[in-house]
Amino acid sequence: MINAAPLDERFSEKNIKNIISSFTRECELIRNNTKEFLKLSIDPDTVKFDPLDQSLPLILWSLAYIDINSFTSRVINTYRDILESRLSKETIESVEKYAFEYGIKCLYNPDYQMYIMSPEVFSIYSRRVSGSKFRLVNQTFIDGKIIVESEVLWKIIREAFVVKARATLALIDPEACHLILGPMAEELVDLQDRAREMKYSGDLGSVDSSCFPPCVLHFLSDARAGVNLPHMARFTMVSFLHHVGMKNEEIMNIFKSAPDFNERITSYQVNHVTGHSSGTEYSPPKCSVLKSNHLCYMDNDYVCNSEWLKHPMQYYSYKKRRKDSGKPSFNDLQK
Ligand code: SF4
Repeated sequence: MINAAPLDERFSEKNIKNIISSFTRECELIRNNTKEFLKLSIDPDTVKFDPLDQSLPLILWSLAYIDINSFTSRVINTYRDILESRLSKETIESVEKYAFEYGIKCLYNPDYQMYIMSPEVFSIYSRRVSGSKFRLVNQTFIDGKIIVESEVLWKIIREAFVVKARATLALIDPEACHLILGPMAEELVDLQDRAREMKYSGDLGSVDSSCFPPCVLHFLSDARAGVNLPHMARFTMVSFLHHVGMKNEEIMNIFKSAPDFNERITSYQVNHVTGHSSGTEYSPPKCSVLKSNHLCYMDNDYVCNSEWLKHPMQYYSYKKRRKDSGKPSFNDLQK
């Protein structure tokens, strides 16, 4: 059930300090739920429980402490999916409150059995979701507003959550965060170590993802979660997977979880990028291009931070060579 306190108050330093230091049963539960949820998020397939709304502020502060982009994305995506599933079980009033909490004013209309909301707000968040149901041109307008079905609204709320979570993380001061979460330091540093070893958990058929660069792992994880990937991320992922030897059919399987998966269009795009239909085998963009498009997720990955690294394929070759020769990579030596 949704909390009574406003969102920004719950994310504040004051509230986090209270959660960390209080001996109440409620704060102890929040601390335990946060640790458990983060631990399970290392492998999202094992996340079986809802950490509840009360844990969200400490989860976000913990992510700021751990500070590993790919882990942050995975946790936010996992929480996002749990939130969506939670919304599907809530009452209409509660869904309206959740929407309001994330800045979306909507009202259920019993005559239409749908929610009425502003098209402007809809278009801010709907562009993050793929599928024709989420395009503004396909909505029904009534007196300057649009009416949306429950399933659509849940997805809009979950995307508003993602935007809010990212904005909250950006505001957390790293020094204050390390100071306030000091009592949890041991567990958080342990999680940080494990997050560095994280692998893509989906089935990649014939290829081994352990040598993939963080950017490609990030795109894979988003594609699997049905997130609308920007064009360049999609292109990078397809061309990279092709160059490491994945079959076109296996590449297409990755996109099957997208809500608007269209076999014909995906097959056309994959065949084009891999040269089956175009005659040109496209290569992934260089790191500098991915960086300037905000699609680099290097964090503190040793290989990505090496001066010589200019291209995601270089990352793969380096890791593969080390792996095949039985030598640990520098990333492994750092552990
Ligand atoms: S440095 Fe290059 S390989 Fe590493 S995450 Fe960024 S874009 Fe990808």
